[in-house]
Amino acid sequence: EPVIYWTRRDFRLSDNPALVAACESGAPVIPVFVHDETIDALGAAPKWRLGLGAEAFGARLAEVGSRLVFRRGEALVVLRALVAETGARAVHWNRLYDPVSRKRDEAVKAALKAEGVTVVSHAGHLVHEPWTVETGTGGFYKVYTPFWKAVRGREVAEPLAVPKLQMPEVWPASEDVAAWGMGRAMDRGAAVVRPHCVIGEAGAQGRLGAFIAHRIGDYGEARDRLDVDGTSGLSENLTHGEISARVCWHAGMRAMAEGKAGAETFLKELIWRDFAYHLMHHTPHIVARNWREDWEAFPWNTDADHPHVQAWMRGRTGMAIVDAAMREMYVTGRMHNRARMLVASYLTKHLMTHWKIGMDWFADCLVDWDPASNAMGWQWSAGSGPDATPYFRVFNPETQAEKFDPLGRYRRAYVAELSGRPPETALAYFEAVPRSWEMHPGQPYPARPVVDAAEGRKRALAAYENRGF
Ligand code: FAD
Repeated sequence: EPVIYWTRRDFRLSDNPALVAACESGAPVIPVFVHDETIDALGAAPKWRLGLGAEAFGARLAEVGSRLVFRRGEALVVLRALVAETGARAVHWNRLYDPVSRKRDEAVKAALKAEGVTVVSHAGHLVHEPWTVETGTGGFYKVYTPFWKAVRGREVAEPLAVPKLQMPEVWPASEDVAAWGMGRAMDRGAAVVRPHCVIGEAGAQGRLGAFIAHRIGDYGEARDRLDVDGTSGLSENLTHGEISARVCWHAGMRAMAEGKAGAETFLKELIWRDFAYHLMHHTPHIVARNWREDWEAFPWNTDADHPHVQAWMRGRTGMAIVDAAMREMYVTGRMHNRARMLVASYLTKHLMTHWKIGMDWFADCLVDWDPASNAMGWQWSAGSGPDATPYFRVFNPETQAEKFDPLGRYRRAYVAELSGRPPETALAYFEAVPRSWEMHPGQPYPARPVVDAAEGRKRALAAYENRGF
């Protein structure tokens, strides 16, 4: 009797606890990917990228003689059918922590167990699972630094080796993942965004290796520079589980032991990801509502069609650093971390627009979209979250640009209107945008920002003063 390994966001053979457990049972293993309603609900870029990740994982499994069975439907219905078809006696998966997945997984587990199937979930997505970190009084952390202090010295188990998979005698039928059209809403995917992606386990390991070998030393300073490729780029792979956070942690620890300067900063960033999951686990409303209830009274603009919001989304605010970042995201599927903070500040403070509009746009455009980090990042920037930057601390986009893009390289890389001979990256934007946006590289750049730095700051602070809470 075979066992089923249900893969969701863990597209790797190495350090994969659910897969190892399935293999250790000694039974043939049937890996399955289920296209259920949680996937229907994804934004365009995340759905497209998830499809490519699943396809690559199928190819990776084929390299070791296995397969990935693709099925579409409600998770419980699909798994139940597979159990019936194959006579499988157990199902394994690695845990996810967002409220929707949790609810689904609990229901699937309860139902299958009641039908006599062994169901085991495993810890594979984070360095530390959300509930394993507690304050001295048994509560959860709302502030990052004490969370970091609580985990930095902890022993983290060594990564697991690639297991040996036993094959079933007969493979259950599989649908064709390519025919599902997971990239249907992502017209710009193949031509524009794809070259910026690194897909699959080998690519993810290559990224980590290159980062540790060449960039981690300068990471402490370089990570803030918009015009320098100073970070690991691993978020895209971590969100799809093409590499485990634990493998990244150990690589960072070894680099630190070797005295590489930026190593501790890298470890801290990895733990920001765990912290985001910690918050989402304990306060799941972080993904949907102001984390601080009193912010519900703030006079956010909630109209996504407002011309200022549309200018923000389209990279036409006239604030060059903001526009460059928004276009970077549209063209590459990613955005530099500092740029994320800047555009989030500009939207929520200068444009006084609800962070949820920004969060949703990111969730439509990012190939590294992550439910916990995105929600935490937006609420942090807006001032409505735990451990947030205070609302009155308004980033000045112009001084930020001078500091982190001193020569204007980043701005010119993505905003074609700023130079006589724009680079490919800037021109690609016009290839990528829908025709209805009516944008072309020859059009003049806005003479003034929709809301300028000083005026926006004043308006935001006045609203904050009068907020009535
Ligand atoms: P590196 O600098 O190389 O860092 C290594 C890893 O640490 C990253 O891959 C990531 O997993 C983790 N990490 C780094 N910074 C953060 C952070 N601030 N919060 C949580 N984890 C972090 N990250 C996502 O993965 N998905 C998102 O949807 C997302 N949305 C964001 C939205 C906003 C408004 C903000 C301010 C930040 C958001 N981030 C998000 C966090 C951060 O910007 C990205 O993780 C980072 O830019 C990824 O680049 P990198 O892999 O080169 O990071």
